[in-house]
Amino acid sequence: MTVIAQQPRIRPSLLVGELIEPRVVQPSAGYSRGVTVTDLGLPRLRGTLAHAPAPVSDRPDDPRLVDRFGRVATDLRVSLTDRCNLRCTYCMPAKGLDWTPTQQLLTDDEIVRLVRIGVGQLGITVIRFTGGEPTLRKSLTAIVRRVAGLLPRPEISLTTNGIGLARQARALAAAGVDRLNVSLDTLIPKRFERITRRNRLTDVLDGMAAARAAGLTPVKVNAVLLRGVNDDEAVPLLRYCLGAGYELRFIEQMPLDAQHGWQRDEMITAAEILERLQTAFRLTPDPAERGGAPAERWLVDGGPETVGVIASVTRPFCGDCDRTRLTGDGQLRTCLFARGETDLRALLRGGASDDEIADVWRGAMWVKAAGHGIDEPGFLQPERPMSAIGG
Ligand code: SAM
Ligand code: SF4
Repeated sequence: MTVIAQQPRIRPSLLVGELIEPRVVQPSAGYSRGVTVTDLGLPRLRGTLAHAPAPVSDRPDDPRLVDRFGRVATDLRVSLTDRCNLRCTYCMPAKGLDWTPTQQLLTDDEIVRLVRIGVGQLGITVIRFTGGEPTLRKSLTAIVRRVAGLLPRPEISLTTNGIGLARQARALAAAGVDRLNVSLDTLIPKRFERITRRNRLTDVLDGMAAARAAGLTPVKVNAVLLRGVNDDEAVPLLRYCLGAGYELRFIEQMPLDAQHGWQRDEMITAAEILERLQTAFRLTPDPAERGGAPAERWLVDGGPETVGVIASVTRPFCGDCDRTRLTGDGQLRTCLFARGETDLRALLRGGASDDEIADVWRGAMWVKAAGHGIDEPGFLQPERPMSAIGG
């Protein structure tokens, strides 16, 4: 049935010139309800499709979230809140941000409905709840339980700073969380406080242990190295994770901070991370299939333990991307770095049917850009920071 999915994967390097994301969603013919598409940084486009540019008519009749480059999105990231109890310097300013007002956030029912549409109609198989800090959403466990009850049951994971886990890990596991990622950039309390502007290292370490005890294994650990701050901790962090049975992945710092302070030459690159690790460990490429996973993995000292590096900037994996994203206020994003968003909340609250929403979702994903374009001369950082998009 699917022509597009059988096309060879196109690497981003072959797609220079394709990096600008089209601004208008293309629901299927006959759809007349109001659709709002935002091209961030420019005025909002509002109105019905009657006022939109001519539709793209080349989308195949495929129920899944296919795009023009042969990718199929099966992994849905759902941001549950933009609030956070830390203030990581590479993510948020010290005073926090203007949080999204509650009435603009999707309700639990709205979230579950969109996830149900994704799972039931669009071929989504993996749901990752994130934020902001998802454990701050009081109804997190209830949302997880409802999503775990969907058929087909999606795999459910969580990205968290770990602070809430000592209290919540068992309930989350019982509700249906299968896996989780905890962020940990340093093992030194003073540095933790410098990076996150909060004195909570012990809470994070306790939270990770609680997740492990609750069977949420393997606990994956995300670490961002910052030049002159914690870039000497690659080896200690890996030693710690190996000892505790956690799976460590380093993430290259990306231009997604609210302050727009990211500088390419300040970033610790994947090559530097590997160089530091190789002073203490023998790393060999993990032969396991990578699929759409963002992390390149290496066996540590012959394995079976591994370490991963998510080199979003220096070794982008956009050609294999299988993600679609939903912000806390119900905006569909095709990519972390997308400059446009599609307002699913307006459809939900305007009385659209499941089929209509699914059609809009398909249309938006069809025109997903080939790559994030960070290294392109015209790159513009998204208006919304990582914490508001959902990391
Ligand atoms: N608050 C949760 C946490 O910290 O895990 C979930 C949201 S956070 C935005 C998700 C992940 O994004 C974290 O692992 C964090 O370290 C990472 N992150 C945030 N800002 C980043 C940036 N500018 N570059 C790379 N990773 C970033
Ligand atoms: Fe909060 Fe996560 Fe951003 Fe840190 S990275 S400020 S924990 S949302």
